[in-house]
Amino acid sequence: MKQITASELVKNSSYINGRWCDTPARFAVVNPANQQLLLEVADAGAAEAEQAVLAASAAFASWAALPAAKRSELLLRWYQLVMQHQQDLARLLTLEQGKPLSEAKGEIAYGASYMQWFAEEAKRLYGDTIPAPSADKRIIVQRQPVGVVTAITPWNFPNAMIARKAAAALAAGCSFVVKPAQQTPLSALALAELAEQAGIPAGVFNVVVGSDAKTIGAVLTQHPKVAKFSFTGSTAVGKQLLKQCADGVKRVTMELGGNAPFIVFDDADLDAAVQGLLASKFRNAGQTCVCANRILVQRGVYQAFADKLAIAITSLKVGDGVNSDSQIGPLIDDKALQKVTALVQGAVAEGAKLLLGGSSHSAGKQFFQPTLITEVSADMAISKEEIFGPVAPLMVFDSEAEAIALANSTDYGLAAYFYSRDIGRVFRVAQQLQFGMVGINEGIISNAAAPFGGVKQSGFGREGAKYGLDDYTDIKYLCLGGL
Ligand code: NAP
Repeated sequence: MKQITASELVKNSSYINGRWCDTPARFAVVNPANQQLLLEVADAGAAEAEQAVLAASAAFASWAALPAAKRSELLLRWYQLVMQHQQDLARLLTLEQGKPLSEAKGEIAYGASYMQWFAEEAKRLYGDTIPAPSADKRIIVQRQPVGVVTAITPWNFPNAMIARKAAAALAAGCSFVVKPAQQTPLSALALAELAEQAGIPAGVFNVVVGSDAKTIGAVLTQHPKVAKFSFTGSTAVGKQLLKQCADGVKRVTMELGGNAPFIVFDDADLDAAVQGLLASKFRNAGQTCVCANRILVQRGVYQAFADKLAIAITSLKVGDGVNSDSQIGPLIDDKALQKVTALVQGAVAEGAKLLLGGSSHSAGKQFFQPTLITEVSADMAISKEEIFGPVAPLMVFDSEAEAIALANSTDYGLAAYFYSRDIGRVFRVAQQLQFGMVGINEGIISNAAAPFGGVKQSGFGREGAKYGLDDYTDIKYLCLGGL
Protein backbone atom coordinates (compact mmCIF):
# COMPACT_ATOMS: atom_id res chain seq x y z
CA MET A 1 0.00 0.00 0.00
CA LYS A 2 3.05 2.23 0.31
CA GLN A 3 2.96 2.45 -3.47
CA ILE A 4 -0.14 4.69 -3.31
CA THR A 5 1.00 8.33 -3.43
CA ALA A 6 -2.29 9.94 -2.34
CA SER A 7 -2.64 8.10 0.97
CA GLU A 8 -6.14 9.56 1.57
CA LEU A 9 -7.39 7.15 -1.13
CA VAL A 10 -6.62 4.16 1.08
CA LYS A 11 -9.64 3.67 3.35
CA ASN A 12 -10.53 0.78 5.63
CA SER A 13 -14.19 1.25 6.50
CA SER A 14 -17.62 1.81 4.96
CA TYR A 15 -18.65 5.28 3.79
CA ILE A 16 -22.16 6.05 4.99
CA ASN A 17 -23.88 9.43 5.03
CA GLY A 18 -20.57 11.21 4.40
CA ARG A 19 -18.78 9.47 7.29
CA TRP A 20 -16.27 6.63 7.55
CA CYS A 21 -17.86 4.03 9.81
CA ASP A 22 -15.68 1.74 11.84
CA THR A 23 -16.83 -1.60 13.26
CA PRO A 24 -15.13 -3.90 15.79
CA ALA A 25 -15.03 -6.85 13.36
CA ARG A 26 -12.56 -6.82 10.44
CA PHE A 27 -11.94 -8.80 7.29
CA ALA A 28 -8.74 -9.20 5.32
CA VAL A 29 -8.06 -7.92 1.82
CA VAL A 30 -5.22 -9.87 0.20
CA ASN A 31 -3.14 -9.44 -2.92
CA PRO A 32 -4.01 -12.32 -5.30
CA ALA A 33 -0.53 -12.14 -6.86
CA ASN A 34 1.24 -13.17 -3.64
CA GLN A 35 -1.47 -13.81 -1.01
CA GLN A 36 -0.03 -11.09 1.20
CA LEU A 37 -2.32 -9.06 3.44
CA LEU A 38 -3.03 -5.60 2.02
CA LEU A 39 -5.35 -4.23 4.67
CA GLU A 40 -7.83 -5.21 7.38
CA VAL A 41 -11.18 -3.58 6.62
CA ALA A 42 -14.07 -2.88 9.01
CA ASP A 43 -16.67 -5.59 8.48
CA ALA A 44 -20.09 -3.98 8.04
CA GLY A 45 -23.31 -5.97 8.33
CA ALA A 46 -27.07 -5.54 8.26
CA ALA A 47 -27.11 -2.56 10.67
CA GLU A 48 -24.67 -0.56 8.52
CA ALA A 49 -26.52 -1.52 5.34
CA GLU A 50 -29.74 -0.22 6.86
CA GLN A 51 -28.04 3.00 7.97
CA ALA A 52 -26.82 3.50 4.42
CA VAL A 53 -30.28 2.95 2.94
CA LEU A 54 -31.81 5.40 5.43
CA ALA A 55 -29.09 7.96 4.68
CA ALA A 56 -29.72 7.58 0.96
CA SER A 57 -33.42 7.93 1.54
CA ALA A 58 -32.94 11.13 3.56
CA ALA A 59 -30.62 12.58 0.92
CA PHE A 60 -32.81 11.66 -2.05
CA ALA A 61 -35.32 14.54 -2.12
CA SER A 62 -32.76 17.36 -2.09
CA TRP A 63 -30.48 15.58 -4.59
CA ALA A 64 -33.41 14.97 -6.96
CA ALA A 65 -34.47 18.60 -6.58
CA LEU A 66 -31.09 19.97 -7.65
CA PRO A 67 -31.08 21.43 -11.15
CA ALA A 68 -29.77 18.84 -13.60
CA ALA A 69 -26.97 21.24 -14.49
CA LYS A 70 -25.75 21.19 -10.88
CA ARG A 71 -25.79 17.38 -10.67
CA SER A 72 -23.94 17.37 -13.95
CA GLU A 73 -21.29 19.73 -12.58
CA LEU A 74 -20.69 17.52 -9.52
CA LEU A 75 -20.44 14.36 -11.63
CA LEU A 76 -17.96 16.09 -13.91
CA ARG A 77 -15.89 17.13 -10.91
CA TRP A 78 -15.92 13.50 -9.71
CA TYR A 79 -14.78 12.41 -13.19
CA GLN A 80 -11.92 14.93 -13.15
CA LEU A 81 -10.73 13.83 -9.70
CA VAL A 82 -10.79 10.17 -10.72
CA MET A 83 -8.72 10.94 -13.80
CA GLN A 84 -6.30 13.07 -11.77
CA HIS A 85 -5.74 10.06 -9.52
CA GLN A 86 -5.76 7.49 -12.31
CA GLN A 87 -2.29 6.18 -11.48
CA ASP A 88 -2.96 5.65 -7.78
CA LEU A 89 -6.42 4.19 -8.36
CA ALA A 90 -4.99 1.79 -10.93
CA ARG A 91 -2.27 0.65 -8.56
CA LEU A 92 -4.80 0.08 -5.77
CA LEU A 93 -6.94 -1.90 -8.19
CA THR A 94 -4.03 -4.07 -9.33
CA LEU A 95 -3.01 -4.75 -5.74
CA GLU A 96 -6.42 -6.04 -4.71
CA GLN A 97 -7.59 -7.58 -8.00
CA GLY A 98 -4.42 -8.64 -9.81
CA LYS A 99 -4.94 -7.36 -13.36
CA PRO A 100 -1.90 -5.78 -15.09
CA LEU A 101 -1.37 -2.11 -14.29
CA SER A 102 -1.98 -1.03 -17.91
CA GLU A 103 -5.38 -2.75 -17.82
CA ALA A 104 -6.14 -1.25 -14.41
CA LYS A 105 -5.39 2.22 -15.79
CA GLY A 106 -7.72 1.40 -18.66
CA GLU A 107 -10.44 0.36 -16.22
CA ILE A 108 -10.14 3.62 -14.26
CA ALA A 109 -10.50 5.64 -17.48
CA TYR A 110 -13.35 3.39 -18.62
CA GLY A 111 -15.22 3.79 -15.30
CA ALA A 112 -14.62 7.55 -15.32
CA SER A 113 -15.95 7.80 -18.88
CA TYR A 114 -19.39 6.85 -17.52
CA MET A 115 -19.20 9.75 -15.04
CA GLN A 116 -18.41 12.10 -17.91
CA TRP A 117 -21.03 10.57 -20.19
CA PHE A 118 -23.83 10.72 -17.60
CA ALA A 119 -22.80 14.21 -16.51
CA GLU A 120 -23.82 15.18 -20.05
CA GLU A 121 -26.90 12.95 -20.19
CA ALA A 122 -28.16 14.40 -16.88
CA LYS A 123 -28.96 17.59 -18.77
CA ARG A 124 -30.92 15.74 -21.45
CA LEU A 125 -33.47 13.87 -19.41
CA TYR A 126 -36.21 14.97 -21.79
CA GLY A 127 -39.91 14.22 -21.59
CA ASP A 128 -42.59 14.39 -24.27
CA THR A 129 -45.82 16.11 -25.17
CA ILE A 130 -48.28 13.84 -26.92
CA PRO A 131 -51.26 14.87 -29.10
CA ALA A 132 -54.34 14.20 -26.94
CA PRO A 133 -57.44 12.36 -28.18
CA SER A 134 -59.71 15.37 -27.43
CA ALA A 135 -59.33 19.13 -27.87
CA ASP A 136 -59.76 19.96 -24.17
CA LYS A 137 -56.83 17.79 -23.00
CA ARG A 138 -53.05 17.93 -23.06
CA ILE A 139 -50.72 14.99 -22.39
CA ILE A 140 -47.30 15.62 -20.86
CA VAL A 141 -44.75 12.91 -20.08
CA GLN A 142 -41.98 13.51 -17.54
CA ARG A 143 -39.14 11.30 -16.35
CA GLN A 144 -38.49 11.28 -12.63
CA PRO A 145 -35.76 9.55 -10.58
CA VAL A 146 -36.91 6.22 -9.13
CA GLY A 147 -35.54 6.99 -5.63
CA VAL A 148 -33.00 5.06 -3.56
CA VAL A 149 -30.92 2.70 -5.71
CA THR A 150 -28.92 -0.14 -4.17
CA ALA A 151 -26.30 -2.20 -5.98
CA ILE A 152 -24.04 -5.21 -5.55
CA THR A 153 -20.97 -5.54 -7.74
CA PRO A 154 -18.31 -8.20 -8.52
CA TRP A 155 -14.53 -8.29 -8.09
CA ASN A 156 -13.52 -8.50 -11.74
CA PHE A 157 -14.02 -4.75 -12.42
CA PRO A 158 -13.84 -3.26 -8.91
CA ASN A 159 -14.02 0.34 -10.13
CA ALA A 160 -15.96 0.32 -13.38
CA MET A 161 -18.91 -1.84 -12.33
CA ILE A 162 -19.63 0.72 -9.60
CA ALA A 163 -18.97 3.82 -11.71
CA ARG A 164 -21.19 2.52 -14.53
CA LYS A 165 -24.17 2.22 -12.19
CA ALA A 166 -23.56 5.13 -9.82
CA ALA A 167 -22.98 7.70 -12.56
CA ALA A 168 -26.31 6.90 -14.22
CA ALA A 169 -28.19 6.77 -10.92
CA LEU A 170 -26.80 10.09 -9.67
CA ALA A 171 -27.35 11.76 -13.03
CA ALA A 172 -31.01 10.74 -12.97
CA GLY A 173 -31.38 12.23 -9.45
CA CYS A 174 -31.28 8.96 -7.47
CA SER A 175 -29.23 8.37 -4.33
CA PHE A 176 -27.07 5.25 -4.22
CA VAL A 177 -25.75 2.51 -1.92
CA VAL A 178 -23.29 -0.10 -3.17
CA LYS A 179 -21.83 -3.26 -1.68
CA PRO A 180 -18.67 -4.18 -3.59
CA ALA A 181 -17.23 -7.71 -3.65
CA GLN A 182 -15.42 -8.53 -0.41
CA GLN A 183 -12.24 -9.34 -2.34
CA THR A 184 -12.04 -5.81 -3.80
CA PRO A 185 -13.47 -3.20 -1.41
CA LEU A 186 -10.56 -0.74 -1.66
CA SER A 187 -11.29 0.59 -5.15
CA ALA A 188 -14.89 1.25 -4.09
CA LEU A 189 -13.82 3.14 -0.97
CA ALA A 190 -11.37 5.24 -2.97
CA LEU A 191 -14.26 6.22 -5.25
CA ALA A 192 -16.20 7.34 -2.15
CA GLU A 193 -13.29 9.51 -1.00
CA LEU A 194 -13.23 11.22 -4.39
CA ALA A 195 -17.03 11.61 -4.43
CA GLU A 196 -16.69 13.49 -1.15
CA GLN A 197 -13.86 15.63 -2.51
CA ALA A 198 -16.02 16.38 -5.56
CA GLY A 199 -18.71 17.83 -3.29
CA ILE A 200 -21.35 15.13 -3.78
CA PRO A 201 -23.56 15.65 -0.71
CA ALA A 202 -23.56 13.24 2.24
CA GLY A 203 -25.94 10.32 1.79
CA VAL A 204 -26.04 10.50 -2.01
CA PHE A 205 -23.24 7.97 -2.59
CA ASN A 206 -22.65 5.30 0.06
CA VAL A 207 -20.36 2.25 0.12
CA VAL A 208 -20.98 -0.66 2.51
CA VAL A 209 -18.10 -3.12 2.73
CA GLY A 210 -18.54 -6.44 4.50
CA SER A 211 -17.85 -10.13 4.37
CA ASP A 212 -21.45 -11.33 4.84
CA ALA A 213 -22.91 -10.69 1.40
CA LYS A 214 -26.11 -12.57 2.15
CA THR A 215 -27.02 -10.44 5.16
CA ILE A 216 -26.11 -7.13 3.53
CA GLY A 217 -27.82 -8.27 0.32
CA ALA A 218 -31.04 -9.00 2.21
CA VAL A 219 -31.23 -5.36 3.32
CA LEU A 220 -30.30 -3.95 -0.09
CA THR A 221 -32.94 -6.02 -1.88
CA GLN A 222 -35.75 -5.93 0.65
CA HIS A 223 -35.67 -2.67 2.58
CA PRO A 224 -38.93 -0.77 2.00
CA LYS A 225 -37.05 2.48 1.27
CA VAL A 226 -35.22 0.89 -1.67
CA ALA A 227 -36.84 1.64 -5.02
CA LYS A 228 -34.43 -0.12 -7.32
CA PHE A 229 -31.74 -2.78 -7.11
CA SER A 230 -28.95 -3.18 -9.67
CA PHE A 231 -26.75 -6.28 -9.68
CA THR A 232 -23.65 -7.31 -11.59
CA GLY A 233 -22.42 -10.81 -10.88
CA SER A 234 -23.13 -14.45 -11.53
CA THR A 235 -26.44 -15.72 -12.87
CA ALA A 236 -26.87 -18.07 -9.88
CA VAL A 237 -26.66 -15.24 -7.32
CA GLY A 238 -28.66 -12.91 -9.59
CA LYS A 239 -31.57 -15.35 -9.64
CA GLN A 240 -31.62 -15.46 -5.85
CA LEU A 241 -31.51 -11.66 -5.56
CA LEU A 242 -34.29 -11.30 -8.14
CA LYS A 243 -36.51 -13.47 -5.93
CA GLN A 244 -35.64 -11.29 -2.93
CA CYS A 245 -36.67 -8.18 -4.86
CA ALA A 246 -39.99 -9.70 -5.94
CA ASP A 247 -41.82 -9.19 -2.64
CA GLY A 248 -41.27 -5.45 -2.67
CA VAL A 249 -41.81 -5.25 -6.48
CA LYS A 250 -38.48 -3.39 -6.78
CA ARG A 251 -37.24 -2.14 -10.12
CA VAL A 252 -34.31 -4.41 -11.04
CA THR A 253 -31.33 -4.45 -13.39
CA MET A 254 -29.40 -7.71 -13.79
CA GLU A 255 -25.96 -7.80 -15.47
CA LEU A 256 -25.16 -11.49 -15.19
CA GLY A 257 -22.82 -14.12 -16.54
CA GLY A 258 -21.98 -14.85 -20.17
CA ASN A 259 -20.76 -17.61 -22.45
CA ALA A 260 -19.57 -15.66 -25.47
CA PRO A 261 -19.09 -17.42 -28.80
CA PHE A 262 -16.26 -16.08 -30.97
CA ILE A 263 -16.84 -17.22 -34.57
CA VAL A 264 -14.16 -17.14 -37.26
CA PHE A 265 -15.56 -17.71 -40.76
CA ASP A 266 -13.55 -18.90 -43.75
CA ASP A 267 -13.60 -15.38 -45.24
CA ALA A 268 -12.25 -13.66 -42.09
CA ASP A 269 -9.06 -11.63 -41.85
CA LEU A 270 -7.26 -14.20 -39.68
CA ASP A 271 -4.65 -11.82 -38.28
CA ALA A 272 -7.36 -9.39 -37.19
CA ALA A 273 -9.33 -12.30 -35.70
CA VAL A 274 -6.29 -13.42 -33.68
CA GLN A 275 -5.80 -9.90 -32.34
CA GLY A 276 -9.51 -9.58 -31.54
CA LEU A 277 -9.46 -12.90 -29.74
CA LEU A 278 -6.40 -12.00 -27.67
CA ALA A 279 -8.16 -8.84 -26.50
CA SER A 280 -11.47 -10.52 -25.82
CA LYS A 281 -10.14 -13.76 -24.32
CA PHE A 282 -7.04 -12.87 -22.32
CA ARG A 283 -7.93 -9.47 -20.86
CA ASN A 284 -8.09 -9.69 -17.06
CA ALA A 285 -6.65 -13.24 -17.33
CA GLY A 286 -9.91 -14.29 -18.98
CA GLN A 287 -12.02 -13.14 -16.03
CA THR A 288 -14.60 -10.94 -17.73
CA CYS A 289 -18.28 -11.56 -18.43
CA VAL A 290 -17.74 -10.73 -22.13
CA CYS A 291 -14.66 -12.93 -22.56
CA ALA A 292 -14.73 -15.25 -25.59
CA ASN A 293 -15.64 -18.59 -24.02
CA ARG A 294 -16.21 -20.81 -27.07
CA ILE A 295 -14.10 -20.23 -30.17
CA LEU A 296 -15.83 -21.60 -33.26
CA VAL A 297 -13.64 -21.78 -36.36
CA GLN A 298 -14.77 -22.80 -39.86
CA ARG A 299 -13.04 -25.92 -41.17
CA GLY A 300 -11.25 -24.22 -44.08
CA VAL A 301 -9.24 -21.90 -41.78
CA TYR A 302 -9.21 -23.98 -38.61
CA GLN A 303 -5.59 -25.14 -38.77
CA ALA A 304 -4.23 -21.81 -40.00
CA PHE A 305 -6.09 -19.94 -37.27
CA ALA A 306 -4.92 -22.37 -34.56
CA ASP A 307 -1.30 -21.98 -35.73
CA LYS A 308 -1.42 -18.19 -35.69
CA LEU A 309 -3.19 -18.15 -32.33
CA ALA A 310 -0.60 -20.49 -30.79
CA ILE A 311 2.21 -18.10 -31.80
CA ALA A 312 0.34 -15.12 -30.33
CA ILE A 313 -0.47 -16.91 -27.06
CA THR A 314 3.13 -18.05 -26.62
CA SER A 315 4.24 -14.42 -26.51
CA LEU A 316 1.91 -13.47 -23.63
CA LYS A 317 3.85 -12.50 -20.51
CA VAL A 318 2.51 -13.84 -17.22
CA GLY A 319 3.40 -12.10 -13.95
CA ASP A 320 2.45 -9.84 -11.06
CA GLY A 321 0.29 -7.02 -12.44
CA VAL A 322 2.52 -4.37 -10.90
CA ASN A 323 5.39 -5.39 -13.22
CA SER A 324 5.21 -3.13 -16.25
CA ASP A 325 5.59 -5.97 -18.79
CA SER A 326 2.93 -8.31 -17.32
CA GLN A 327 0.00 -9.12 -19.61
CA ILE A 328 -1.63 -11.92 -17.62
CA GLY A 329 -2.04 -11.54 -13.87
CA PRO A 330 -3.19 -14.06 -11.26
CA LEU A 331 -6.66 -15.57 -10.93
CA ILE A 332 -8.68 -14.04 -8.13
CA ASP A 333 -8.40 -16.96 -5.69
CA ASP A 334 -7.57 -20.61 -5.27
CA LYS A 335 -11.16 -21.66 -5.98
CA ALA A 336 -10.93 -20.00 -9.39
CA LEU A 337 -7.64 -21.80 -10.08
CA GLN A 338 -9.20 -25.15 -9.15
CA LYS A 339 -12.20 -24.50 -11.40
CA VAL A 340 -10.12 -23.58 -14.45
CA THR A 341 -7.81 -26.55 -13.89
CA ALA A 342 -10.78 -28.94 -13.64
CA LEU A 343 -12.40 -27.57 -16.83
CA VAL A 344 -9.19 -28.02 -18.82
CA GLN A 345 -8.48 -31.48 -17.43
CA GLY A 346 -12.09 -32.53 -18.02
CA ALA A 347 -11.96 -31.39 -21.67
CA VAL A 348 -8.69 -33.25 -22.26
CA ALA A 349 -10.07 -36.39 -20.60
CA GLU A 350 -13.03 -36.23 -22.99
CA GLY A 351 -10.84 -36.04 -26.08
CA ALA A 352 -9.78 -32.39 -26.53
CA LYS A 353 -6.16 -31.78 -27.51
CA LEU A 354 -3.93 -29.61 -25.32
CA LEU A 355 -1.66 -27.45 -27.51
CA LEU A 356 -0.32 -24.94 -24.97
CA GLY A 357 -0.38 -24.49 -21.20
CA GLY A 358 -2.97 -26.41 -19.21
CA SER A 359 -1.82 -25.96 -15.64
CA SER A 360 -0.71 -23.43 -13.05
CA HIS A 361 2.16 -21.07 -13.83
CA SER A 362 5.44 -20.67 -11.99
CA ALA A 363 4.79 -16.92 -11.43
CA GLY A 364 2.87 -17.80 -8.25
CA LYS A 365 0.25 -19.93 -6.55
CA GLN A 366 -2.77 -18.41 -8.34
CA PHE A 367 -1.34 -17.95 -11.83
CA PHE A 368 -2.53 -20.11 -14.73
CA GLN A 369 -0.66 -20.64 -17.99
CA PRO A 370 -2.20 -19.12 -21.13
CA THR A 371 -3.78 -22.23 -22.60
CA LEU A 372 -4.90 -23.38 -26.05
CA ILE A 373 -7.00 -26.51 -26.55
CA THR A 374 -8.40 -27.80 -29.83
CA GLU A 375 -10.95 -30.43 -30.82
CA VAL A 376 -13.34 -29.21 -28.16
CA SER A 377 -17.01 -30.17 -28.53
CA ALA A 378 -20.24 -28.45 -27.50
CA ASP A 379 -21.16 -31.06 -24.89
CA MET A 380 -17.99 -30.61 -22.79
CA ALA A 381 -18.30 -28.68 -19.51
CA ILE A 382 -15.73 -26.17 -20.80
CA SER A 383 -18.21 -25.18 -23.54
CA LYS A 384 -21.14 -24.86 -21.18
CA GLU A 385 -19.64 -23.00 -18.21
CA GLU A 386 -17.95 -19.62 -17.89
CA ILE A 387 -14.25 -20.55 -17.86
CA PHE A 388 -13.06 -17.33 -16.19
CA GLY A 389 -9.41 -18.10 -16.93
CA PRO A 390 -6.83 -17.63 -19.72
CA VAL A 391 -7.97 -20.68 -21.67
CA ALA A 392 -8.88 -20.66 -25.38
CA PRO A 393 -10.92 -23.72 -26.47
CA LEU A 394 -11.28 -24.19 -30.25
CA MET A 395 -14.19 -25.98 -31.91
CA VAL A 396 -14.61 -26.66 -35.63
CA PHE A 397 -17.77 -26.06 -37.72
CA ASP A 398 -18.71 -26.44 -41.38
CA SER A 399 -21.66 -24.18 -42.28
CA GLU A 400 -22.96 -20.75 -41.29
CA ALA A 401 -26.17 -22.34 -40.00
CA GLU A 402 -24.17 -24.74 -37.81
CA ALA A 403 -22.11 -21.85 -36.36
CA ILE A 404 -25.24 -19.90 -35.47
CA ALA A 405 -26.90 -22.93 -33.90
CA LEU A 406 -23.79 -23.71 -31.86
CA ALA A 407 -23.37 -20.07 -30.80
CA ASN A 408 -26.98 -19.85 -29.61
CA SER A 409 -26.94 -23.19 -27.80
CA THR A 410 -26.49 -21.63 -24.36
CA ASP A 411 -28.75 -20.17 -21.68
CA TYR A 412 -26.57 -17.05 -21.70
CA GLY A 413 -26.95 -14.10 -24.07
CA LEU A 414 -24.46 -11.36 -23.15
CA ALA A 415 -21.77 -10.86 -25.82
CA ALA A 416 -20.93 -12.64 -29.08
CA TYR A 417 -18.21 -11.96 -31.66
CA PHE A 418 -17.66 -12.95 -35.25
CA TYR A 419 -15.13 -12.27 -37.98
CA SER A 420 -16.21 -12.17 -41.64
CA ARG A 421 -15.59 -9.91 -44.63
CA ASP A 422 -18.78 -10.92 -46.44
CA ILE A 423 -21.30 -8.11 -45.98
CA GLY A 424 -24.30 -10.36 -46.58
CA ARG A 425 -23.07 -12.81 -43.95
CA VAL A 426 -22.36 -9.96 -41.53
CA PHE A 427 -26.02 -8.91 -41.56
CA ARG A 428 -27.43 -12.46 -41.61
CA VAL A 429 -25.34 -13.64 -38.67
CA ALA A 430 -25.71 -10.44 -36.60
CA GLN A 431 -29.48 -10.72 -36.96
CA GLN A 432 -29.63 -14.32 -35.75
CA LEU A 433 -27.26 -14.25 -32.80
CA GLN A 434 -29.31 -14.25 -29.59
CA PHE A 435 -27.03 -11.91 -27.61
CA GLY A 436 -27.38 -8.37 -26.28
CA MET A 437 -24.06 -7.26 -27.82
CA VAL A 438 -22.30 -8.43 -30.97
CA GLY A 439 -18.72 -7.53 -31.89
CA ILE A 440 -18.26 -7.79 -35.67
CA ASN A 441 -14.59 -7.86 -36.64
CA GLU A 442 -13.97 -6.38 -33.18
CA GLY A 443 -12.94 -7.94 -29.86
CA ILE A 444 -13.47 -4.95 -27.52
CA ILE A 445 -17.04 -3.68 -27.53
CA SER A 446 -17.75 -1.84 -24.30
CA ASN A 447 -17.72 1.96 -24.00
CA ALA A 448 -19.87 4.63 -22.35
CA ALA A 449 -21.60 5.59 -25.61
CA ALA A 450 -22.93 2.07 -26.16
CA PRO A 451 -25.69 0.13 -24.35
CA PHE A 452 -24.11 -2.70 -22.32
CA GLY A 453 -26.31 -5.62 -21.32
CA GLY A 454 -27.61 -9.06 -22.09
CA VAL A 455 -30.62 -11.17 -22.97
CA LYS A 456 -31.74 -14.65 -21.83
CA GLN A 457 -30.11 -15.64 -18.50
CA SER A 458 -27.46 -12.93 -18.88
CA GLY A 459 -30.02 -10.51 -17.50
CA PHE A 460 -31.87 -7.34 -18.49
CA GLY A 461 -31.44 -3.59 -18.42
CA ARG A 462 -28.74 -1.57 -20.17
CA GLU A 463 -25.80 0.43 -18.80
CA GLY A 464 -24.29 3.31 -20.77
CA ALA A 465 -25.59 5.16 -23.84
CA LYS A 466 -28.76 7.27 -23.81
CA TYR A 467 -30.62 4.12 -22.68
CA GLY A 468 -28.59 3.96 -19.47
CA LEU A 469 -30.83 6.50 -17.71
CA ASP A 470 -34.03 4.59 -18.46
CA ASP A 471 -33.50 2.09 -15.64
CA TYR A 472 -33.13 4.90 -13.09
CA THR A 473 -36.23 6.88 -14.05
CA ASP A 474 -39.96 6.39 -13.86
CA ILE A 475 -42.22 7.73 -16.56
CA LYS A 476 -44.93 9.98 -15.18
CA TYR A 477 -47.84 11.04 -17.37
CA LEU A 478 -49.70 14.26 -16.62
CA CYS A 479 -53.17 14.65 -18.07
CA LEU A 480 -54.34 18.27 -18.23
CA GLY A 481 -58.12 18.46 -18.71
CA GLY A 482 -60.82 21.13 -19.04
CA LEU A 483 -58.76 23.34 -21.35
P1 NAP B 1 -20.91 -13.49 -7.61
O1 NAP B 1 -20.45 -14.63 -6.81
O2 NAP B 1 -22.30 -13.51 -8.12
O3 NAP B 1 -20.66 -12.20 -6.70
C1 NAP B 1 -20.99 -10.92 -7.15
C2 NAP B 1 -21.38 -10.07 -5.97
O4 NAP B 1 -22.51 -10.66 -5.33
C3 NAP B 1 -20.30 -9.94 -4.90
O5 NAP B 1 -20.35 -8.63 -4.38
C4 NAP B 1 -20.74 -10.96 -3.86
O6 NAP B 1 -20.31 -10.63 -2.57
C5 NAP B 1 -22.24 -10.82 -3.94
N1 NAP B 1 -22.98 -11.99 -3.45
C6 NAP B 1 -22.64 -13.29 -3.53
N2 NAP B 1 -23.60 -14.05 -2.98
C7 NAP B 1 -24.56 -13.22 -2.52
C8 NAP B 1 -25.80 -13.39 -1.85
N3 NAP B 1 -26.27 -14.60 -1.52
N4 NAP B 1 -26.53 -12.29 -1.54
C9 NAP B 1 -26.09 -11.07 -1.86
N5 NAP B 1 -24.91 -10.83 -2.50
C10 NAP B 1 -24.17 -11.90 -2.84
O7 NAP B 1 -20.02 -13.25 -8.89
P2 NAP B 1 -18.44 -13.09 -8.96
O8 NAP B 1 -17.85 -14.43 -9.02
O9 NAP B 1 -17.97 -12.13 -7.95
O10 NAP B 1 -18.30 -12.33 -10.35
C11 NAP B 1 -18.19 -12.96 -11.54
C12 NAP B 1 -19.54 -13.05 -12.24
O11 NAP B 1 -20.00 -11.75 -12.56
C13 NAP B 1 -19.43 -13.79 -13.55
O12 NAP B 1 -20.53 -14.62 -13.71
C14 NAP B 1 -19.44 -12.66 -14.56
O13 NAP B 1 -19.84 -13.05 -15.84
C15 NAP B 1 -20.38 -11.69 -13.92
N6 NAP B 1 -20.20 -10.34 -14.46
C16 NAP B 1 -21.19 -9.82 -15.26
C17 NAP B 1 -21.03 -8.56 -15.81
C18 NAP B 1 -22.10 -7.96 -16.69
O14 NAP B 1 -22.07 -6.75 -16.89
N7 NAP B 1 -23.03 -8.73 -17.21
C19 NAP B 1 -19.88 -7.81 -15.53
C20 NAP B 1 -18.89 -8.36 -14.72
C21 NAP B 1 -19.08 -9.63 -14.18
P3 NAP B 1 -19.00 -11.29 -1.91
O15 NAP B 1 -17.87 -10.91 -2.76
O16 NAP B 1 -18.94 -10.67 -0.58
O17 NAP B 1 -19.25 -12.77 -1.89
